[in-house]
Amino acid sequence: MYIFKKVSDLQKHLDGLREAGKTVAFAPTMGALHNGHLSLINKANEIADVSVSSIFVNPTQFDQKEDLDKYPRTVEKDIQMLIGSECDVLLLPTPDEIYPSDVEVRNDFDFGVLDDVLEGAHRDGHFAGVGQVVNRLLEIVQPNWIVMGQKDYQQTAIIRRLLELTESKTKIVVSPTIREEDGLAMSSRNVRLEPDERKEAPTIHASLENVRAAYGSGEVEQAKKDAIAQIEASGSMKIDYFDIVHPTTLKSVTKWDEAEQLVVCTAVHLGKVRLIDNILIP
Ligand code: AMP
Repeated sequence: MYIFKKVSDLQKHLDGLREAGKTVAFAPTMGALHNGHLSLINKANEIADVSVSSIFVNPTQFDQKEDLDKYPRTVEKDIQMLIGSECDVLLLPTPDEIYPSDVEVRNDFDFGVLDDVLEGAHRDGHFAGVGQVVNRLLEIVQPNWIVMGQKDYQQTAIIRRLLELTESKTKIVVSPTIREEDGLAMSSRNVRLEPDERKEAPTIHASLENVRAAYGSGEVEQAKKDAIAQIEASGSMKIDYFDIVHPTTLKSVTKWDEAEQLVVCTAVHLGKVRLIDNILIP
């Protein structure tokens, strides 16, 4: 695996590969890698000649300083995992490489209502930061495909919109959520859960699955209420939001047949850790 710390070195390398007719798939990450991230590398290897990843904990997308400070950093282990997954190229930049003083990095994308709901409503400026860093990374890497996880469903909707707004040639590929055996969605933040919190955490996924079980019968609102009650019954979890939404507008639905597929999504505080998850139903 080639590791580049300098954007210009990475670009030279990728230009050479492109001139040789190679296609590129890119999976950006913030590191502290787990099998969810590696599934994106596998997907990148499947669809393109060259897989590129990046590890950059982007300060502009954190609305809480503590979350940024406590974000796990395990670069040496990450590198070994990427090599094990046959990742071809890794960009490991410093903040100055991503946000150099002489380059104007846009953060003014208008994501419209996509940024007003769910995560957008609870994390001020989060998607402006995500749009900023992903747009910059796309300008640097210029991949044929960007591979992203369904785990961050709203983020995939935001990036789809970013690609439209910038008239990008890059296509987005969304890869399924990888879970622990007990259903908990893999997340870099899971390592910060205390043992008793870790035991509670699978309730999040179980509550989503109970909405799937209720799909098509009774009221949407009732299924939502039941799921919220299930999470709250744990006593230790505080819900930021729990919603059943349209897959493209992300607006709350009131009927099961408002779209062919619906997204059930939630964000929950468990101790000091905030976890998000979603499933597509039916
Ligand atoms: P992050 O490092 O959390 O910014 O995530 C980098 C990429 O990995 C994003 O596209 C995430 O959606 C994806 N990702 C994170 N967790 C998972 C998971 N459990 N399954 C699949 N993809 C994931």
